Amino acid sequence: MPIITRSAAAVEAEDWQQILAQSFRRPQALLEYLNLPLSELPQRLQACDEFSMLVPRPYAAQMLPGDADDPLLLQVLPQATENEHRPGYITDPLAEKDTNIQPGIIHKYRGRILLLATAGCAVNCRYCFRRHFAYADNRIGRKQWAEALAYVAADAGISEVILSGGDPLLLQDEALQELIHLIEDIPHVRRLRIHTRLPVVIPQRLTTALQEMLHNSRLQTSIVVHINHPNELSEAHRQPLQALRQSGTTLLNQAVLLRKVNNNLGILSDLSERLFEFGVLPYYLHLLDSVRGAHHFDVSEQEAVFLYRQLLAELPGYLVPRLVREEAGKANKSPINLDR
Ligand SMILES: *Cc1c(COP(=O)(O)O)cnc(C)c1O
Ligand code: SF4
Repeated sequence: MPIITRSAAAVEAEDWQQILAQSFRRPQALLEYLNLPLSELPQRLQACDEFSMLVPRPYAAQMLPGDADDPLLLQVLPQATENEHRPGYITDPLAEKDTNIQPGIIHKYRGRILLLATAGCAVNCRYCFRRHFAYADNRIGRKQWAEALAYVAADAGISEVILSGGDPLLLQDEALQELIHLIEDIPHVRRLRIHTRLPVVIPQRLTTALQEMLHNSRLQTSIVVHINHPNELSEAHRQPLQALRQSGTTLLNQAVLLRKVNNNLGILSDLSERLFEFGVLPYYLHLLDSVRGAHHFDVSEQEAVFLYRQLLAELPGYLVPRLVREEAGKANKSPINLDR
């Protein structure tokens, strides 16, 4: 019998961090891994200068080798076209700078506040609206949480704290637990929401410690995952997502409508059904934010409405996400008008 010297929790924590450390960071390495031609390397590296590449191995493992148009690959592989700057595609399309009221806090939605708990992400999505965000000014560490939360404590109108980022699940469980305790200490906060892509790209991040801390919290907890294509969900996600849900956390999904990735009725419909099979409810389907370097992902509003109408006819209402656009200065997402 082996002598067990480390707790299961410690092993789990080490697992996901090691997996993250082994991520692909260079286009050439990812292309080689997928048996793809090493095309346009200088242009891809130039795109990395503006927004670096980061692709965890479990995510890459779900791509189809040899397929240059794999819908997961297209989301994360730097492309030459990112270097063409098109008019109308700007660095801060949501004008978050204006609502970034103090380091680490974005207050633009009524009753809820975004706490930027970490600067980085576990995957760099090429279409991301925060690809140019001034994370450097928003690196708040544990010491500043108390200060950021003083803002929340001073405003009794805030009932929900949304951990965003970067990806808040990059925090280790111990740090996350400390943050959650600080939030629980504010009596008028009732809900805690976590926006994350980590469980999708590294399912090992859904540790039992995480599940337990959410289960034991006095707050109502929800996790908004971020899945754009049904191939992103594998058997490795099934058990941890179901365990989370059974322990009382509501699981929701937000997706972005992306050209060549998911602008297709069959894919959107499969995505909703697969999410539900894994215990996740479709929540939002976003139109792309016009961020510089992501123009090639854009789907016109007309096409989006055309697809969405078909989706409404195809699925039960609870499997149809809300089609929205985020607009600078608006206190909520704007529903897309379907009657035109
Ligand atoms: C839209 C959004 C929110 C808040 O919106 P709700 O309408 O409250 O769901 C929070 N975080 C991110 C990243 C968002 O995109
Ligand atoms: S995980 Fe979210 S915040 Fe991070 S790069 Fe992807 S879309 Fe952007």
